[in-house]
Amino acid sequence: MPRRKLPLKACVNCRALVNDEVEVCPICGGREFSDDWDGFVAILDVERSQVAKLLNIQKPGVYALKVR
Ligand SMILES: [Zn+2]
Repeated sequence: MPRRKLPLKACVNCRALVNDEVEVCPICGGREFSDDWDGFVAILDVERSQVAKLLNIQKPGVYALKVR
């Protein structure tokens, strides 16, 4: 079954998900992105989120769980 993809790509450096047309990561300033990512998590409160700590996320945003 073909997998339907969101029109998003993930920053290879910090895993932030951005629109396909974005060229510079708004979180880390990276320019390398991957279309091959899986799962995502929205981090709203970096201070209180266990997931943010686990994934070493420093800024609120939407992040892919896996980037290949
Ligand atoms: Zn980034």
